[in-house]
Amino acid sequence: MNAVRRGVVRITLFVFGLMACSTSTPTDVLKPEPEHHGEGGYVNPYGPPNDKNVFDFIKMRWFSSEPFADHTEELDQIQVAEQLVDLSAVSAPLTVTWLGHSTFLLESNGVRVLTDPILSQRASPIGFVGPERLAPMPYAVEELPAIDYVIISHNHYDHLDAFSIEHLGNQPQYIVPLGLKEWFVDLGIDAARVHELDWWQHWAEGPIRFTATPCQHWSGRGLFDRNQTLWASWMLEWSLNSNSKRTIWFGGDTGYNNVQFKQIGEKWPQVDLALIPIGAYAPRWFMQASHVNPEEAVQIHNDIGSRFSIGMHWSTFQLSAEPLDEPRQKLVEAVASGALEQGEFITLPIGGQVEVD
Ligand code: ZN
Ligand code: ZN
Repeated sequence: MNAVRRGVVRITLFVFGLMACSTSTPTDVLKPEPEHHGEGGYVNPYGPPNDKNVFDFIKMRWFSSEPFADHTEELDQIQVAEQLVDLSAVSAPLTVTWLGHSTFLLESNGVRVLTDPILSQRASPIGFVGPERLAPMPYAVEELPAIDYVIISHNHYDHLDAFSIEHLGNQPQYIVPLGLKEWFVDLGIDAARVHELDWWQHWAEGPIRFTATPCQHWSGRGLFDRNQTLWASWMLEWSLNSNSKRTIWFGGDTGYNNVQFKQIGEKWPQVDLALIPIGAYAPRWFMQASHVNPEEAVQIHNDIGSRFSIGMHWSTFQLSAEPLDEPRQKLVEAVASGALEQGEFITLPIGGQVEVD
């Protein structure tokens, strides 16, 4: 384009811009809706559409070429911590204890965070059917110490459990994705203790700043509420003392795309610990859009630039077709072929604890 034509285009754009301004409503009304706010519910802006319906689920669950095997014969492969720690006597600067599935207890200086607490025997709307815990809770619910903050990734039954929230009650602050506050209030939690955030919004109290970050998933607890509440991963910036901070990322449930995790890595150049799902990936035709496999989990680890990661969302409930111990084995392979340092991306036994330096 020559210089004269470029000038004309610029003037035209300027005039149209002025016209738009002079006839428009205030600028905040003009702000576009975020791309994940769809017309009929929240959407995943990247990656394949998650269009699986109840018929696909039935096919996957009962008629797939990769059937839900009966894994009860593999129960002895579940790794459970041989010795449990006294949770009330933790002294390291930052400790992480895996209670199974996506439930971690993070603790520093007596401040405790619980992620997606499932303290129940089943991940189900009904107490006596649905996926049952394959190994018992490592600690009795009554043995858990007082919890200050609870983060929730989304409303699926294996991440948001009424029994667990009723047990925790009005003691913690709850940090949740958009649309979930009402559920907590209906359960009897004070509205002032529930902090509902959109992606990239944050809430801070005490030593921790919580930011909702994107991930690729979906939501729903019944037949008619699909994607009506948001799903999120979470970044915690945790001041351990006046001159030391740790950055911890909790991945929730997610499929892989090559945009969102890179965005998170750009925004937080140092991630000290990442909790990344590695299970519930088979069969791929059904699961891929919303659940990463261990290889993709390693990609997320690299995309966000995690210094140290722990695999979660495996070995606790039978939700998918892969054998119980396969996520751990495939993670070991993916770590080796991804040229990660030994110990950079690990799994813990249920009830296992690590100190993060
Ligand atoms: Zn889910
Ligand atoms: Zn899940």
